[in-house]
Amino acid sequence: MNDPIRRVNDSDIESRLRPDMRLECRICWHVYDPAEGDEMEQIAPGTPFADLPDHWRCPQCDAEKGMFLLIEDDGDL
Ligand SMILES: [Zn+2]
Repeated sequence: MNDPIRRVNDSDIESRLRPDMRLECRICWHVYDPAEGDEMEQIAPGTPFADLPDHWRCPQCDAEKGMFLLIEDDGDL
């Protein structure tokens, strides 16, 4: 199955993203979970990281999207 998300922006990780992937802020370790979205920024639950608006920042420390690291837990699926 191909993901509809094929947008490659400034950061390399976005090309490796799957819609259900969580990402972690490398500054404050805040985790963005697509299943939960981001209430503060009115991001609806189910929004993939790649679909976040470009102005989206870490709700805790204001880091840019590029500061987020993939959490790769492809162990137990
Ligand atoms: Zn942060």
